[in-house]
This record gives sequence, structure tokens and C-alpha cells, in this order.
Amino acid sequence: MESNLKTNINEEILNIEKIRNDFPILKQLIHNKPLCYLDNAASTQKPQIVIDTINNFYSTTNSNIHRGVHYLSEKSTQAFENARIKVKDFINAKSEKEIIFTSGTTASINLVAQSFGRKYLNEDDEIIVTTMEHHSNIVPWQLLCDEKNANLKVVKINDIGELLLDSLNDLISEKTKLISVMHVSNTLGTINPIKEIIKIAHQNNVPVLLDAAQSIQHIEIDVQELDCDFLAFSGHKIYGPTGIGILYGKENLLDEMPPFMGGGDMISKVTFEETTFNELPFKFEAGTSNIAGAIGLGAAIDYVKSIGIENIKEYETNLLNAATDAVKEIPGIKIIGNAKEKTSVLSFVIDNIHPHDIGTFLDFEGVAIRTGHHCTQPLMDFFKIPATSRASFAFYNTLEEVEQLTIALKKTIEVFN
Ligand code: PLP
Repeated sequence: MESNLKTNINEEILNIEKIRNDFPILKQLIHNKPLCYLDNAASTQKPQIVIDTINNFYSTTNSNIHRGVHYLSEKSTQAFENARIKVKDFINAKSEKEIIFTSGTTASINLVAQSFGRKYLNEDDEIIVTTMEHHSNIVPWQLLCDEKNANLKVVKINDIGELLLDSLNDLISEKTKLISVMHVSNTLGTINPIKEIIKIAHQNNVPVLLDAAQSIQHIEIDVQELDCDFLAFSGHKIYGPTGIGILYGKENLLDEMPPFMGGGDMISKVTFEETTFNELPFKFEAGTSNIAGAIGLGAAIDYVKSIGIENIKEYETNLLNAATDAVKEIPGIKIIGNAKEKTSVLSFVIDNIHPHDIGTFLDFEGVAIRTGHHCTQPLMDFFKIPATSRASFAFYNTLEEVEQLTIALKKTIEVFN
């Protein structure tokens, strides 16, 4: 399909043909149409190198880590710990001790809630989140607050989907024990002003947890420069496998925090009278980790680095702008989320057509988008809508696919009207 879209996308930024060849799943026809995968905010596709790395691990190296003296166990341990170093370097953490392997963003946030939260939260204390948070950055805090008789406070947003920082200034007090905020909104695409949030928080001696589930794959992250206290992300959203994720925490904070789960690997010595715990990061990695997942994530990070996160950001921004311009022109469509700073997410509603019908119709055109509340029901309540349709972009998407989306949307409107 030839694209008629007039954009400033510079084909020199990325070699898209080569990149698309790296992702075997993209070669498929769906309902006899070329697959146009625009559900990247839910999960990204995997390049061949990630698939091969996992395959190779199970074919040649598989063994449990840390406790074995035999060859395969040592090789496995080396590969696993090497993946930790790759993550550390990728986000510029000071030390590998600050990198905890979890099963994903949700698990990472729950770890902080159950370890840091249980230790430091007292009755009437407060945790601050925002209106646009994903349920996984709301419910863990509600559970904690219920247990501790503490309170959850919410930073408001405006009608275009930007945080109202004044509202943060009003909420923060000596009762605030943590601010937990998303870097990029999975529903609106808003890039939040996290540097400012962290500055305000630290002026008040409050630590900040950054939910980077939707930013790690689009924006360069340097935890030392940001000075965030915790950071959480999922492997599957950055072209790696499912079931693996990261909690970054500053070493002094993690050191003081009690273990979250008990079991093998996280102990130093166990007797029936007393258990002492392993050092960081193992203190927080009870049981057998997702070894293949961690190694696969390491390969995904290498791949992303080989393309360059700055190139990815520039290319995806151009793609989002082109899609926004094209979709805006279609009568009856309203975009939800028009923040000045956005990345890779285009949410919209169409007059008189339910998002699920839009999603189903688009699927028959080969276009995969997500419809629903996107695990952000309080945000849906704010906009007084039950759901949106969401197209979300990755660097393997093309202008032709933006056009495939817009043609399919026009067809949908024609059919339903
Ligand atoms: N936070 C945000 C902003 C998300 O978009 C998601 C997933 O969509 C999550 C948290 C939860 O991620 P996971 O399900 O991988 O734990």
C-alpha cells in the first residue's frame, strides 16, 4: 500500500525494512490482510534474536542458577547475572544490587507496597498517585492503605490529559510517605513531567516510584539523572519475554527494606529459631527466577540499544503525529488525550459506535488495536466514558500501517452509519 500521508518522517532515521524482517510475527496475513499490529502498549512483538536467545538457552545451557557447582549451572548463572548487568547499564543504575528481577511491573510495584509500604506506612499516612494511573499502580496502594488505615491521595489532571502539578503541591505534606506515578500514560500517551515531580517530592523528603511500563521502550531513562527512588518496568513491553520485569531501587532504600517473599535463594542462613537474609539483590528474589526470561530481556535490551532509543523516539513521534493528523480529519472521531508531550499512544472514541465494535471490525481489516478501559477505570470516569479504542505504535510500524488504520476506521464508520 502506498502512503499518501505528508509527513516529515525521515526514512534515514531507521531502516524499517530491515527492522521488520527481524520480527517474524509481522509477516503474517490476518483475515487475508497484512497484519497491522497497533497494540504495542499492551505487549510488543519479539525480534528473532530474543526468540533465538531463549531457544538457545533451553537447548544448550538450561540449569538452575546460583546453587550449582556443575558446568551448566555456572553457565546459566553467568548468563542470568550478565542480563542483570545489561539492565543496570541500560537504565544507568549505580550497581547490580539495585536491579531486582520480578515477573513484571505489577509485581515490582506490589513488592514496594508490601516491603517499603509495610515498614514505613503508619495510620493516617498518605501515598500519592494520579488520576491517570494503571490499576497496578492503584490497587497495591489501596490494599496497603486498608491494612494500615492510611490514605490514598490523587493528583488531578486537566481535560487534555496533563497532570496538574499545583494539585501535587497541595497534596504533599509530612504525612506523605511515597509518590507513585506513571512516566507515560498507557491510555493517553501523556509524558508526565517526572523531573519536576521528583524535585517537588525530594524537597519534601518524599521518595518517588516511577512506573516506567510505557516509557522504558520509548524514552531514554537514566535513573541517576532522574534521581527516582524506585522504577518498575516489564520485559514484554520492551520486546522481551513475558513473565519478567524489573524493580530498580536505590541501594540504601532496598537495604533497609524487609524481604517481601520468603523461600530459597533469598536467605543467608535458616534455622527453626531464626533466618538471616541474603544480600541485595537476592534478598528480593525468593525461589527460582524466570532465568530464560531474564536472559531474553537482556537480548531485547541489546537489540533496542543497537537501534538506538533516541532514533526510536524520533521515529515513533513522527508516526504518532502522522496518525494523529490523519485520525483527526475523520468526522465523528474524538481523540482522548491531547497533552503537549505525548508518545506512541492514540486513544479515541467514535460517535455512536462502541469501542469493542470498532476493535472487532478493524480486526477483520488486519488491524490489531485494543479497546476497553485499559486498566484505567478511574481515568475513564474522569472523561465520563466507559472505554476508548487505542492504537499504540512501535518502531516497526510504518506510515502504510497508519494509512491502513485510517482506511479501516473510515470503513467502520461507513458500515455502522
Ligand atoms: N503500568 C502501566 C502504565 C501499564 O501500561 C501496564 C500494562 O499495561 C502495567 C503497569 C502493568 O504491567 P504488567 O501487566 O506487565 O505487570
